[in-house]
Amino acid sequence: MKIKTLKTEHRLCTCCMEEHIVKYVLIDETQTFKGQKVNYQAQYTYCDKADEFYADETQMQDNDISLKDAYRKALGLLTSKEIIAIRTKYAISQSDLCMLLGWGGKTITRYETHQVQDRAHDTILRKIDSDPEWFISLLTDSKSSFSEAAYKKYLSTAIELYETERDIYLRRAIKADYARFEENKIAQGNASLSLDKVVDVIRYFAASQKVTDLYKVKLMKLMWYADALSYKERGYAITGLAYQSLPMGAVPIGHNSIIDLKGIPCEEIDMGETTAYHFSLNGKNTFPSLSYDEKKILDIVIKKLGKLTKNDIIEFMHSEAAYKNTASKEIISFEYANQLQI
Ligand SMILES: [Zn+2]
Repeated sequence: MKIKTLKTEHRLCTCCMEEHIVKYVLIDETQTFKGQKVNYQAQYTYCDKADEFYADETQMQDNDISLKDAYRKALGLLTSKEIIAIRTKYAISQSDLCMLLGWGGKTITRYETHQVQDRAHDTILRKIDSDPEWFISLLTDSKSSFSEAAYKKYLSTAIELYETERDIYLRRAIKADYARFEENKIAQGNASLSLDKVVDVIRYFAASQKVTDLYKVKLMKLMWYADALSYKERGYAITGLAYQSLPMGAVPIGHNSIIDLKGIPCEEIDMGETTAYHFSLNGKNTFPSLSYDEKKILDIVIKKLGKLTKNDIIEFMHSEAAYKNTASKEIISFEYANQLQI
């Protein structure tokens, strides 16, 4: 029998009814539950006077949960701790989660303890875990069942989870798009792609009072100038973005996804036939991924180009050697940064 001592305590021993030092121990046990043989660790108290292991009410309950969790693991079901983790991730109470799922009011409480969930309910809990969007739609459908405050709290938590999850996928997709430049570091200005820096560079421009009318075309040019100037001055770019030559000048690969990244202060404006993307950031902000030098570079770009109109900046970009020497749709080499006009 494998015994592990957890701690000792001087107290009234309910086995021999005398005060002495008792040991709390973990013992490896094997049991068959619903036809499945499982190994788990059970907690006991040890009385050395009577040489006896015994369990109080709480220990018995915990041991029961350990047994059920071992069974859940053996069958590939969520453990009680995992179910608790899913629910607390959404900051929802046990009874409200039951309401959301249309389950009996005590179902989740039982699943978080001694009752093993069936396979169908297990699948639903896993789907809730991986799909905040589904949680949001269930919540919206049962809105009238919750108090206004509870509904708002659950909704904002789920939206936050949804956005974080979406951002993870989006970042993965952008990085996959950049895998092709692995062997061609000059395309990224001798820097590895940093999406944190991309987000902060955009936020920095959007927060500046000296940048006027910041729409997408202008933003893309400012980003290229920032990376090109950084390359010219330091030998490497800031963001690691690769830029393509398009009729209106440099545009980073993945530009549509980039402006969707979490934290980008982008507002879509319906222009009838098209959509305009406006960037602005108010209040006090920090830019944790940018170094002092990088902010200085951005400040130079802002000083020289921040007040140019979209057409002015396109025209300015058109007279760059980098633009003139790059065929349409080709990647703009950072080698031309040495001839940069700023
Ligand atoms: Zn005792």
